[in-house]
Amino acid sequence: AQEYPQHIWHNGHIMPWQDATVHVMAHALHYGSSVFEGIRCYETPNGPAIFRLTDHLKRLFLSAKVYDIVIPYSVDELAAACREVVKANGLSKAYLRPIAFRGLGGFGLSAETPTDVSVASWNMGAYLGADVLEAGIDACVSSWQRFAPNTIPAGAKAGGNYLSGQLIAREARRLGFGEGIALASTGLLSEGAGENLFLVFEGALHTTPASAACLHGITRNSIITLARDAGINVIERDIPREYLYFADELFMCGTAAEITPIRSVDGKPVGPGKPGPVTRQVQDLFFGLFSGKTADKHGWLEALG
Ligand code: PMP
Repeated sequence: AQEYPQHIWHNGHIMPWQDATVHVMAHALHYGSSVFEGIRCYETPNGPAIFRLTDHLKRLFLSAKVYDIVIPYSVDELAAACREVVKANGLSKAYLRPIAFRGLGGFGLSAETPTDVSVASWNMGAYLGADVLEAGIDACVSSWQRFAPNTIPAGAKAGGNYLSGQLIAREARRLGFGEGIALASTGLLSEGAGENLFLVFEGALHTTPASAACLHGITRNSIITLARDAGINVIERDIPREYLYFADELFMCGTAAEITPIRSVDGKPVGPGKPGPVTRQVQDLFFGLFSGKTADKHGWLEALG
């Protein structure tokens, strides 16, 4: 059975996990009207640090702005809440889940409801399974497309978006794959169910642009920055599906998935069928931030305190 942490931050206070309940008629439950973040806290030689906490919370506010969800706290207040809940649960390595959602207060689609805000934190290992960071996963292209940009905005991380993610992820698992990759409504590559996508082709690192209906991933941005700092050529461009098969290397990235190599797509091996040197270099640069091997040049490690 699922084990739960002891405490959660809910509407301004730390409280016992089991007390943070909402009404079944809460707006978000019916209509997907929530915005949320996934953040990780890592152990570092200088103590626990929350990775790009401020950037994640800024994205939360941008997502909320799209849907006119009023968050009755500041970025600084939510940053304090994030720190508080990790510490209340006695964690030093954690996944954090801030969420703001339309609560109870109206049943119409455009009802002006109060906003409930919670921050959960728990211990989470590798999202796509043990050993996958090392061995890589087998992925498939999904039969489900991502939503078009003029339907649901992929750049706003809203609860409702994850109906698409569930279709993609559940289909992939049902067919025996580790994760699904979706095409955008343009027919070009978009992203994984909950991860951005990178490939290595002709010595450069390629990733899909915002126009591919993907989230502006913070891990994606971190990888682009670290790779460019290390002299790797990074190209953001439209990528047709066949580049999944042309690629020498392929990986997925996200806060939960971290940097997960892909060793096959649709049953075809990626390169020699095992994670390649650029993927390993990017993993080393990224995880090096937390071991101290990679200098934190951009101030991304925000001390738990
Ligand atoms: N795409 C989707 C659909 C996601 O849910 C996530 C995870 N938040 C990502 C990409 C990766 O984003 P990030 O690196 O900011 O976690």
